[in-house]
Amino acid sequence: MSEQWIYLNGEFVEKKDAKVSVYDHGFLYGDGVFEGIRVYEGNVFRLQEHLDRLYNSAKSIMLSIPHTKEEMKKLVVKTLQKNHLSNAYIRLVISRGVGNLGLDPASCSTPQVIIIAEELALFPKELYESGLEIVTVATRRNRPDVLSPKVKSLNYLNNILVKIEASLAGVSEALMLNDQGYVAEGSADNVFIVKGKELLTPPGYVGALEGITRNAIIEFARDLGYAVKEEPFTRHDVYVADEVFLTGTAAEVIAVVKVDGRVIGEGKPGKETKCLLETFRNRVVLEGEKVYKDTLK
Ligand code: PMP
Repeated sequence: MSEQWIYLNGEFVEKKDAKVSVYDHGFLYGDGVFEGIRVYEGNVFRLQEHLDRLYNSAKSIMLSIPHTKEEMKKLVVKTLQKNHLSNAYIRLVISRGVGNLGLDPASCSTPQVIIIAEELALFPKELYESGLEIVTVATRRNRPDVLSPKVKSLNYLNNILVKIEASLAGVSEALMLNDQGYVAEGSADNVFIVKGKELLTPPGYVGALEGITRNAIIEFARDLGYAVKEEPFTRHDVYVADEVFLTGTAAEVIAVVKVDGRVIGEGKPGKETKCLLETFRNRVVLEGEKVYKDTLK
């Protein structure tokens, strides 16, 4: 296998040499922001939206990214080119940088910029055919007034606890509720339920991240004639839905066939989920920011 090159603060270094200081506040305190992005057949999918979210997250935590969005687009493309990748998952990380042991970010002089690109399938291929079994976990979504779920920060402990609870229950993904008991989202994916030709997904204020895949699915579904509502729902609504599916950059679109032991629909990926997955697979290739292709011209 050829080497993997990581963009690290202005240069490309081999994966084995891509190291950051133990005094980096991203490491010490989860102080930083990140994005997960995908490139399909050379099209970086919705790069602008991902960068808008990244820069908004950074603004919210008063972290100044040392590049413009245009520069960042070019760096993403360069990382793909350097690694000869046209279908990949891209991880963009901006940490507060190296400081002292105190919490105060004023001790950190320069944010660190890291871009990793590699092939990634979050779940084995078979699970996209058979669908996932999931559970609801006790870990609640961060309250928006404590740490806004809109900030995609490096503090993902709450989501990691969800993963731990899921694997203790013998499944690979789980649903989190918000503090009022409404369904928020998965560990790193959004949730949709299907009732006939109607789709429902929790609104941002329930505590879900407004996922870029979620927003794309809302748009694609409306184009196909589905009614899509963003409104709160409970576990009961999930149990009695015709279909349930998850969306996310890493997960893409994946059917859920069992929740907390309740079989969803017929216990296999439903008609509407399959249709949306197929549409998603086609449109991500056709669409996207054609940045990568354009830069290659
Ligand atoms: N929720 C959380 C908590 C996430 O981390 C992610 C992944 N970014 C998502 C939802 C899905 O968002 P997107 O479709 O933008 O990847």
